[in-house]
Amino acid sequence: MPDGRRSHNPKDAGVQFDLHPEEPNVMQFATQVQPARSDAADLSELEAALDGDLLRPGTAAYDEARAVWNLVHDRKPAAIVRVASARDVQQAVAFARRSDLEIAVRSGGHSLAGFSTGDGVLVIDMRGLRGLHIDPETRTVFAGAGLTAGEVTAAAAEHELAVPFGDTSTVGISGLTLGGGIGFLARKHGLAIDHVRSFEVVTADAELVTASATENADLYWALRGGGGNFGIVTRFEYDAVSLGETLSGALVLPLTTDVVRGLLEAADAAPEELTTITFIMGAPPAPFIPEELVGTPVVMITLVWAGDPAAGQEAVAPFRALATPIADLVMPMPYPGIYQFTDDGGVPAPNMTRSIFARDLDEAAIETIVARMSSPETPAGAITQLRTFGGAMARVPAGATAFAHRDAKTMFSIFTIHVAPEKIADDAAWTEAYFAQIAPAATGVYVNFLEAEGEARVRQAYPAETLRRLVEAKATWDPDNVFRRNQNIRPA
Ligand SMILES: Cc1cc2nc3c(=O)[nH]c(=O)nc-3n(C[C@H](O)[C@H](O)[C@H](O)COP(=O)(O)OP(=O)(O)OC[C@H]3O[C@@H](n4cnc5c(N)ncnc54)[C@H](O)[C@@H]3O)c2cc1C
Repeated sequence: MPDGRRSHNPKDAGVQFDLHPEEPNVMQFATQVQPARSDAADLSELEAALDGDLLRPGTAAYDEARAVWNLVHDRKPAAIVRVASARDVQQAVAFARRSDLEIAVRSGGHSLAGFSTGDGVLVIDMRGLRGLHIDPETRTVFAGAGLTAGEVTAAAAEHELAVPFGDTSTVGISGLTLGGGIGFLARKHGLAIDHVRSFEVVTADAELVTASATENADLYWALRGGGGNFGIVTRFEYDAVSLGETLSGALVLPLTTDVVRGLLEAADAAPEELTTITFIMGAPPAPFIPEELVGTPVVMITLVWAGDPAAGQEAVAPFRALATPIADLVMPMPYPGIYQFTDDGGVPAPNMTRSIFARDLDEAAIETIVARMSSPETPAGAITQLRTFGGAMARVPAGATAFAHRDAKTMFSIFTIHVAPEKIADDAAWTEAYFAQIAPAATGVYVNFLEAEGEARVRQAYPAETLRRLVEAKATWDPDNVFRRNQNIRPA
């Protein structure tokens, strides 16, 4: 097994269990929010009103709290509100509005675009909202917006339950879920948004509301894929799935066009219990990689068979047959075990991403991928990621949620970690040139895999009818575009 395994015990991570989920985790507060005022920001006034605390520039705590996953975004917010309750979120929103301060909402801090921070903004840091209650009988998970995918996954696994989050434990459930949430259970159980029963949300008017199929249904629709545009979610109610032991892990193969083509075909043909996420990259220095192969381009297929592990062996066989594996780390394990294979991705680093959804990647695209990833010019930190969909994700009608790309078959992404600071410009030029070769295959893009790439790319994330409904919801819930540090939907 690879080194660097982290504990998936939520208690080690300091998760607080909320034993009274039926009580709202806040006071109903809308009437106590102070009326709008036009004079300049007085942070002390906000500070005095908080259950949590306020961090100003010039302190160690501020410097620690302002750091985000993508280190390209080294920003200096005006202040950081570390909220301790939904009431604090209401206070912060009301304060920012009357002080004309731009808001950045930060949960797990993994925004590729760096939207959860900014120079001169008021960061509303949600990491203090860590309440977690799991009812195994009804398979209900109430999770505070500050929790990470790894924390909720570990706690749910104790009851043989899972919520379909993404591939990396450190990603926040909030940003991930609001964009869609595509992970190792996508083919068997769909996206994270397909499992949200309700959201507790602070609106642009600093009111606390619930959004569900029966309450504020337009908001419920928009929050399932529309990102942070419509309010600040303080708590998610998920409908978890039953999931015991899985067959999971990683298979490391040499990089050839046959392997990449075979992998795409096998991933598409596999039973939907099997979801793969493949990383094409230089072999990492890990105990399972022979020393002489470290740095050579490899295909690392990470996979989860969400079913009986014995039955999964047959489904994994076609992948094992693609080439003699450099390493075969696929074995029965509890679902959270898969995160150990992606832990490195969660480590903060300066990073650049380009991504598309595609129906198919043709032979020319496969040859481009292999050539790009095995050339002497390839940046040391370059990773090509391939995902194959279908199954439960595809069965949800395109208009049912604000995530419309249900028919996407493949996701192609380039993640370039800037290993050498002096090479950032070279890395970026290489990444753009590579992306330009594959981009014609695009049928769309996943909103959570976008950087700040302009309006045309946001339109790729939301087809016309979805965008029309999102604009309508924005005009209802945030007509002044208070929540705009995101892949922004402007009110009509
Ligand atoms: C290493 C890595 C792996 C990833 N893997 C996957 C994956 O497998 N599947 C997948 O689907 N995505 C994946 N992502 C993308 C990820 O879903 C997005 O980056 C997501 O926005 C991160 O959420 P966060 O809470 O950590 O980020 P943050 O930076 O805290 O938030 C991102 C944005 O989300 C909004 N937001 C955050 N919290 C709230 C809230 N409580 N209420 C309202 N709006 C809010 C805000 O607009 C904010 O700017 C990955 C990202 C990284 C960096």
